[in-house]
Amino acid sequence: MTPARGARDRFHADTLIWQSRIRLGVALVIGVAGLLLLQTGARGSVEGLAGAFAGYALVTGGIAALARRGRIGSWGVTASLLADVAYVCAATLIASPPAYYQRILILAFIALHLADLYFGRTQALIVMAAVILGYLMIVTAAINGGAALVWSEEMWSVAAFGIVAAVFLLEYGSWNRRLGSIMRLLERAEEGEFAAPYDLEADAHPDAVTLLGAAYNRVREQISSMVMTDALTGCVNRRGFDHELAREMARAARANSDFSLLALDLDFFKNVNDTRGHLAGDAVLREVGGLLMASRRAGDIVARTGGEEFSIILPDTGAAGAELAASRFWEAIRAHEFLKEQKSLRLTVSIGAVSRGPDGREELVEALKKRADDALYHAKRDGRDCVRVWTPALSARPSARISESMRQMGP
Ligand code: GH3
Ligand code: MG
Ligand code: MG
Repeated sequence: MTPARGARDRFHADTLIWQSRIRLGVALVIGVAGLLLLQTGARGSVEGLAGAFAGYALVTGGIAALARRGRIGSWGVTASLLADVAYVCAATLIASPPAYYQRILILAFIALHLADLYFGRTQALIVMAAVILGYLMIVTAAINGGAALVWSEEMWSVAAFGIVAAVFLLEYGSWNRRLGSIMRLLERAEEGEFAAPYDLEADAHPDAVTLLGAAYNRVREQISSMVMTDALTGCVNRRGFDHELAREMARAARANSDFSLLALDLDFFKNVNDTRGHLAGDAVLREVGGLLMASRRAGDIVARTGGEEFSIILPDTGAAGAELAASRFWEAIRAHEFLKEQKSLRLTVSIGAVSRGPDGREELVEALKKRADDALYHAKRDGRDCVRVWTPALSARPSARISESMRQMGP
């Protein structure tokens, strides 16, 4: 049994347990109403009515007992719903004058709605078929017993019920299915997966479930931005980076468009912590995040992927554009005066750049990250404070470089 099916069966079992009390209560009320009708001269017998109630109570109680032991599947739901229809039809046949029979069809709408809400459309359609069958059976029995019912009129009533009920269920009755889809979204959110929103457009007739879906979408947006954002710098965090990188790479592969990735690592950042303290180091990292975000082009995604490491996703950017962008970020950092209100300092950054293969073949996310890291490693190895572009032979070309690797500025 799949976990989803197991969870659904458990939910149905719980529902059958609490509904069994209501079922028996309503059955008792119907039984008492039947007794009163019998007192006023209806043709059925008290024993017959008592027998119908006892049989119904036995079936409903038995199903609830099985549900308590966890031994119930969708067959239990069907059995319970069929028992409802059978009892109402039997009680009607025994205690009600034929003129009242059509009330069954009106009451059946409530049963259909509840069956659809709690157990889904298939069970509701079963109830609909059972009501039609049960109704035809009691009408047949009544006519055979000499009741003054007219077949053609009864058939019209049944046809009208069938058409209206089918339209109601097929057109409007999707609560259970839509609640199920919100449930699945929540289960995925529980595992940290927020990719899919509730499809509001698919709700042809917006109702309370649509409102619930819209509320989920609002919460999803807030939580996903929270879990995808780095609290210190406000950049996208590692989790968000992985998510965005996979998405952008898939998009680039589909559109066969250019795509580049930069890996940045601040040079000798440990010195900042050692000389200015960790809090000042944090303030510098915040400034770096702000600088990178201010220097990006619209659509670029700046992420803090490690302590003093950043990654920048450059959609629709080829190798030449990536090198240009890398130089822009590199320049922005080295030209900036950090911690201006204290004793200011200057920093440099090493950058590795990689672009999608020139043949346009899709590359694996992990392979692309590794290439960006390799290019960054070469930038560090070549003395830091420079940009290195990944090439198949890793023949990194210097595109910007200065000899001193870290310049701290005094006041
Ligand atoms: P390199 O040029 O080789 O990159 O030298 P580095 O000192 O920048 O690199 P290394 O990886 O040796 O050290 C990174 C340092 O960044 C270590 C740690 O002190 C600092 N760091 C990492 N995360 C944080 C953070 O969240 N806040 C602060 N203040 N410092 C951090
Ligand atoms: Mg580092
Ligand atoms: Mg570093």
